[in-house]
Amino acid sequence: MEKKQMDWENIGFAYRMTEKRYVANYKDGKWGEGVLTEDANIVLNECACVLQYAQTIFEGLKAYTTKDDHIVAFRPDLNAKRMVDSAKRLEMPPFPEDRFLEAVRQVVEANAAYVPPFGSGATLYIRPYMFGSNSVIGVKPADEYQFRVFTTPVGPYFKGGAKPLTIRVSDFDRAAPRGTGDIKAGLNYAMSLHAIVSAHAEGYDENMYLDSATRTKVEETGGANFLFVTKDNKIVTPHSNTILPSITRRSLLYVAEHYLGLEVEEREVYLEEVPEFVECGLCGTAAVISPVGKVVDHGKEICFQSGMEKMGPTIQKLYDTLTGIQYGEIEAPKGWIYRIC
Ligand SMILES: *Cc1c(COP(=O)(O)O)cnc(C)c1O
Repeated sequence: MEKKQMDWENIGFAYRMTEKRYVANYKDGKWGEGVLTEDANIVLNECACVLQYAQTIFEGLKAYTTKDDHIVAFRPDLNAKRMVDSAKRLEMPPFPEDRFLEAVRQVVEANAAYVPPFGSGATLYIRPYMFGSNSVIGVKPADEYQFRVFTTPVGPYFKGGAKPLTIRVSDFDRAAPRGTGDIKAGLNYAMSLHAIVSAHAEGYDENMYLDSATRTKVEETGGANFLFVTKDNKIVTPHSNTILPSITRRSLLYVAEHYLGLEVEEREVYLEEVPEFVECGLCGTAAVISPVGKVVDHGKEICFQSGMEKMGPTIQKLYDTLTGIQYGEIEAPKGWIYRIC
């Protein structure tokens, strides 16, 4: 298989069309057989439920080339499971987990020429998603759905080293108690757009959202979970049922405990105690961990000991160990690496 000739290090994070995508339709109460297609466009009725009432969910994961030249994905079974949870919450028919894995495998294999080579730092981003496709005007779930998976190559997240981020405490809320914060739905992102555009306009990289009931506890950013390091090198992550259960964060906690021998704590984290932490990171598929150097709470600056130049030592160790596991340089826990070809 001939790899595409691309400047892998410099392709950035933007949609680039690849050759094949997977499509399966749900109609008359059941999922039909899926196919790979070259058609990247979707034609929908003007009154499709997704367009009127935002009935849509998604997932995000990556395929990459390991040191011994295999193409693999990282824990896709957890994406499959999480998508079932998202579907149930929005009254959508879950796409079977085994078929999700098969769809991911087929699309990645069909686009293997776009999987960046080992060592480039680039990856093939995989986007499974599902939406209500038939026309609905009275408010109710659709009867017909489409499940799709496309891929797009993305460049290394930290080109020229990880620069710590400056984030602000947001005046907007992300998720309501008993709302939809714990599922991966487009609706959670639509309402975060204004907050992120205004954060960027004011010179911040991201928003730190607080719990909307009391506005005293740390939740997450628009698309990544928090991880903090205490003075005595304990890992702390906020526990809340309104944050999205990040697969990266769950994997990092496991790595901290079982590979690095660190103590980990999942508990409520108050904004008030954030200045006591020495390192802070944001966890998600895109970057694994992005270091945070500074949190600004309405003019009051919280600066982490790790500073604004590089990742702190513990977050660096977590990053190196997890990426080492992903690329086949460090032995992975059983079932974490899904071999595609
Ligand atoms: C996808 C997502 C994350 C990160 O989850 P991963 O499984 O680690 O990629 C975190 N927060 C939100 C709101 C998300 O949508």
